[in-house]
Amino acid sequence: MQEICARQMKFIGEERQKKLGSAKVTVVGCGSLGSFVISALVRSDVGFIRIIDRDYVEKSNLYANGTFDLSHIGKPKAIIMKDAMKKINEDCNTEVFVENLDYENTHLLDGTDIVIDCTDNMAARYLINDYCIKNKIPWIYGSVLGDEGYIMPVERSGKPCFRCVFGNEKHPENTCDTAGVLSPIVFIIASLQVYEAIKFFTDIGTSLCGQIIHVKLGKKDSELINVKPNLNCKACGTGEFPSLKRSGYRLISICGKDSYQLKPHKTCKIEPETFSKKLVSLGLEAENLKDVMIKIEHEGMKSSLFRNGTAIIKYGTKENAKKLYEIILKALD
Ligand SMILES: [Zn+2]
Repeated sequence: MQEICARQMKFIGEERQKKLGSAKVTVVGCGSLGSFVISALVRSDVGFIRIIDRDYVEKSNLYANGTFDLSHIGKPKAIIMKDAMKKINEDCNTEVFVENLDYENTHLLDGTDIVIDCTDNMAARYLINDYCIKNKIPWIYGSVLGDEGYIMPVERSGKPCFRCVFGNEKHPENTCDTAGVLSPIVFIIASLQVYEAIKFFTDIGTSLCGQIIHVKLGKKDSELINVKPNLNCKACGTGEFPSLKRSGYRLISICGKDSYQLKPHKTCKIEPETFSKKLVSLGLEAENLKDVMIKIEHEGMKSSLFRNGTAIIKYGTKENAKKLYEIILKALD
């Protein structure tokens, strides 16, 4: 048994420590929350940790982080984390994916006992929720913003899931990037997530499944909110799992203000002369440009649609660019 966690073992006992030693955890997101969660798990001698994160270290990431330093700027967060953790506990195996978790690679959540959400956006949480509910994988939601944070374990069937509580709406989103965050709340929420994970593996306390913990700095007590399953929930209720549905295209933000490239998943062959007329009949301003592409203008956006179905859409929000592209794809069907 590891000396590193001798004091923890003194408190929880050898049997429970062994359970942690064979525990497998996936952590999605390796920013401020993720780095503390991973570090605490490694120091607790958890046996295996999979780290999924697409980002590279920026200077602004050093603020609420116990691992990254100036020498890491420009390097993949997940790999920095793996290397740093190896120096702390050689017996903890880590596996790294420098990838953006989306509906095409949700299988990365398979094969471990629990998933810990340390992402920074709602879309990723809906995705994790839908995949984990569908595949009966326990997971722990965590978020921080400003001086407050939330955690919610989603570990047991019959208990409410993330979608039961937050509904199906795409919430207008503030993130730490737009609204900022105070570092102490990060440490608190990360610690509470790790505590729920330790409880999950060792039964050392009562799981808070079915409740959300809300913590606000300066408030004397954290708040425990009871939540109920929603029979019409599209994940645990009706089993529709909207976030797992493959859309017909892929959107990539490209350089330039409000510019996107949208590519269909299936092969397309557009004939610009006839297809531009079809788009005009649907109310779009569309013009065949030399049989090479179609120029489309719609609600202030400008788009170039190529013969293979790829479009570059500029001067719109992401949502409006998607709406325009969906009209185009529908016309192609
Ligand atoms: Zn639900």
